[in-house]
Amino acid sequence: MTKKTNLDDKQSTEPSVAPQPKAKEKEKKLYDVVFFHKWCKSCGLCSAFCTKKIIQTDDTGLPYIKKMDSCIGCQFCEIHCPDFAITVKERHPKRRRQNGKC
Ligand code: SF4
Ligand code: SF4
Repeated sequence: MTKKTNLDDKQSTEPSVAPQPKAKEKEKKLYDVVFFHKWCKSCGLCSAFCTKKIIQTDDTGLPYIKKMDSCIGCQFCEIHCPDFAITVKERHPKRRRQNGKC
């Protein structure tokens, strides 16, 4: 006679659970940051306040972003620009294709 173990009880009483499909990964939001260079006085505040440190400045001190997809849309740059020279907007890459306009 074989001795029944706790493991045998557990296996026989628990319902078998089918593997669940992985939850759909949340799509990462993308943003576009636009600099109005005519209004910019090259103070460097936007670069200093950028939470992701992605705002760089060119030789003349004008800001630009090399890796726009790294922007998290926090708007710190927009809020701190004293000359209102920055606009941060969410990018909707599929919208135009779906509407078929523009
Ligand atoms: S929105 Fe935030 S992460 Fe994006 S460039 Fe401005 S400060 Fe940086
Ligand atoms: S904070 Fe505004 S004015 Fe200053 S460098 Fe950035 S865009 Fe130009």
